[in-house]
Amino acid sequence: MRVLSGIQPTGPFHWGNYFGAVRQYIDLQHGNEAYYFIANLHALTTVRDPEKLRGYTLEAAIELLALGLNPERTTLFVQSDVPEVSELCWLLMTGAPMGLLERCHAYKEKKAKGLPADAGLFTYPVLMAADILAYDADVVPVGEDQVQHIEVCRDLARSFNHHFGEVFVIPQAKVLAHAARVPGTDGEKMSKSYNNTIDIFEEPKAMRKKVMRMTTDSRPMEEPKAPESDHLYQLYSLFAGDADREEMAALYRRGGFGYGEVKKALADAAEQFFAEPLARRAELKAHPERIEEILADGASAARRKASQVLHRAQKACGVSR
Ligand code: ATP
Ligand code: MG
Repeated sequence: MRVLSGIQPTGPFHWGNYFGAVRQYIDLQHGNEAYYFIANLHALTTVRDPEKLRGYTLEAAIELLALGLNPERTTLFVQSDVPEVSELCWLLMTGAPMGLLERCHAYKEKKAKGLPADAGLFTYPVLMAADILAYDADVVPVGEDQVQHIEVCRDLARSFNHHFGEVFVIPQAKVLAHAARVPGTDGEKMSKSYNNTIDIFEEPKAMRKKVMRMTTDSRPMEEPKAPESDHLYQLYSLFAGDADREEMAALYRRGGFGYGEVKKALADAAEQFFAEPLARRAELKAHPERIEEILADGASAARRKASQVLHRAQKACGVSR
């Protein structure tokens, strides 16, 4: 299988990014041809400070490597290093119905809130389609929030194929059922844009503080509760092993415990879970030139593949002779 996914350098990665997406990237690098990229062109729709964007981009690479991406097994690169994708984006743009893009939630939500939206946000799903189609990807590991955009990609690819012949591979989203929508500190979906994140590489003390301040269920602690519906338990179960998870679930069903205990268990489990990557990140940070090398190698490999696909698409639609 050919696997591809991208992640925006809009800030440090959080638990939702890890369990929904990055963990899948790491698992899928075994036995597949995998491409992972840092989506700086997408991030440009929100990060409008060049130094920040450059910094977040390097940090994103460091974090992915620290978490276990292996550059020997995968192609890791920065989106803007593959200009073929932007060209492919235009070819897809010419066949992208306005109505289809108007229904996409990122744009719709911003508009509903009365916030000004730009063409970059509106056409975001088309660039994302080009990102995916440029590598003949079969599978795209993502969180649930991206499934709609992958549907758009499939629509655009099918319609191009219908019109111009079999050019694109039709990709499929891959979502992990138990981590499709990891909750944030307020119980809503954890997202960099909602100010409810806990970062993967948060210093343990700061992480603990955030966990202790998380909102909790308003019902009294004495009442037995269904663990699955509580966001503290949902988070705990991502970090805990089977036995600990079962024990915690039993505690919920029995009732008579304090949320403070759950929070403490959650903070302990999270600290232990990310201790090794935290140390690895410090090592990687000391050698930015090594990271640049990895990204440059990744870009060459990615360009080789993307230029083949772009050429195929150009020939099919008549813009190359
Ligand atoms: P932003 O708020 O800037 O959009 P984000 O936190 O949503 O940032 P993205 O870069 O958009 O992060 O998403 C990267 C990947 O992480 C995507 O595959 C997305 O589906 C996944 N993801 C993000 N948040 C969650 C979450 N709370 N649960 C599961 N997966 C998530
Ligand atoms: Mg997002």
